[in-house]
Amino acid sequence: MNELDSEIMVGELRKRGLQRIEEEDEADLLLFNTCSIRDLAERKVMGKLGQLGRSKKKRSLIGVTGCMAMAKKDSLFRKLPHIDFIIGTNNISDLNQVLDEVLTTGQQVIRVEDQFEENLNYFVAERDDPVKAFVSIIRGCDKFCTYCVVPYTRGQEVSRPPDDIEKECRILGQKGYKEITLLGQNVNSYGKDKPDWNCLFHDLLYRLNKLKGIERIRFLTSHPCDITKELMEAIRDLDKPCEFVHFPLQAGSNRILKKMHRIYNLEQYLEKVYLLREIVPDVSLGTDIIVGFPTETEEEFQMTYDIFKQIRYSVAFLFAYSARKGTPAFRWKDDIPEEVKLERLQRLMQLHEEICREERLQMIGKEVEVLVERRNNKDKTHLKGRTRCWKKIIFSGEDSLIGTLQKVKIHGFNHQTLLGEL
Ligand code: SF4
Repeated sequence: MNELDSEIMVGELRKRGLQRIEEEDEADLLLFNTCSIRDLAERKVMGKLGQLGRSKKKRSLIGVTGCMAMAKKDSLFRKLPHIDFIIGTNNISDLNQVLDEVLTTGQQVIRVEDQFEENLNYFVAERDDPVKAFVSIIRGCDKFCTYCVVPYTRGQEVSRPPDDIEKECRILGQKGYKEITLLGQNVNSYGKDKPDWNCLFHDLLYRLNKLKGIERIRFLTSHPCDITKELMEAIRDLDKPCEFVHFPLQAGSNRILKKMHRIYNLEQYLEKVYLLREIVPDVSLGTDIIVGFPTETEEEFQMTYDIFKQIRYSVAFLFAYSARKGTPAFRWKDDIPEEVKLERLQRLMQLHEEICREERLQMIGKEVEVLVERRNNKDKTHLKGRTRCWKKIIFSGEDSLIGTLQKVKIHGFNHQTLLGEL
C-alpha cells in the first residue's frame, strides 16, 4: 500500500513539473513515505531524518508522509524541527496544496486526518514496473488486532467504488499491464461498508476477470474471518485470479490468538484452510506469523510450529514481536527475552526453508506458466518471472518476451529461485 501511495505522490509531483531523481544531495524536495508496522522501520527513518537535520549540506524541503506521520503526528516537529511538512495516510491528495502552503508561508504544515475520504486520484500513479501494477480497492482496517497500528494509522475501512477500480484496471490492461494486485489491509472486507453497492470482493473479481489485457489477478492481504466460500469458488471458477492466497495465521495457540484479538480460533482457521484446499486443490498458501507475543510459552510457540508444518505454507512473513506504541499490546509487558524471540524465529525460518526446498524439488521436471517480468538483476543473460503461485523463476530468453506469459520447464533451483527453460 505504501508503494502505491508513493507511486501516486510521484505522479502528482510530476504533474507539478518536478522530476524524480535518485541523488539525495541534488534534490529540492525529500519525501519520506514511512511505514510504522514494526519498530525497526520507524527507527531507520528517524535515524535518517535526524542525520539530515545535523547535516550542513544544502537544505532541501523535507516532507514525512505515511504511517509514521500518522502515528507520531506533530510530535515529529518537536523531535525533528527541520522537517517542513507532515502528511498522514489519509491526506495524500493534499500533497500539492501542502507544498504550496509551505512554499508561500515558509511555515511548517501538517495534515493528518483520522479518516480517509475516497478522493485520491489513483490514475496519476507513476509506476516503475511496466508489467505488474498495484490497484487499491479498500483502505483502512476495522479489525483492531491488539498488536497492530494499522487501524490507528489508516483509519476505518473505506471501499473504493467498483466502477472506478474497473476503469483503472481497464486502462492498465490497455497500457499493456498483465498482472494487477488488488490491495487493501483486508481485501476480503471489500464492499461490506457499502451494502448498497451490492458488490463484495468475489463480485469484484468476477467483474475484473472480464477485462481484456489483464492476465492475472492477485490480492493482498486477507483476514481469515472474511475469506468466504464464494471467494474460494471465484478462484476456482475464474481464469485470472492466481491460485495463491495469503492466509495470515499469526499464532497457533488459541490463547494467543484471543490475546491478539484475531477473532478466530485455530479450529475455525483450519476449517477454512481445508475448505479452500478442497475447492482449489492446487492452491498455495502464504502466512504472517508473529513469534514471542507477550506471555507466549514454549508450548504455545510449538503449536505455531506444528501448525506451520501441517499446513506447509509456501510463502511466510515471519516476525519477532515488537511492541507498537498506541496499540493495546503496548501496555502489556514485552516479557519474552529478545534471544528467545530470535531463537523461535530461527526455528520457524528453518522449517519454512525446508518446506520450500521440498516444494522446489517436487517442481523439477514440471512445466509452469510464467509471467516474464524483466531481465534478472544479478545475471543479465536471464529473464525473470513468477509462476501463478508466486514462485520466482529465471530462464534464458529474448527481451521481446518481457510482459508475456510463457511456458517454462523447471530443471533445478538456486537458493529461492527456480531455474527453467522455455
Ligand atoms: S487485520 Fe491486519 S491490518 Fe487489521 S488490525 Fe489486524 S493485523 Fe492490522
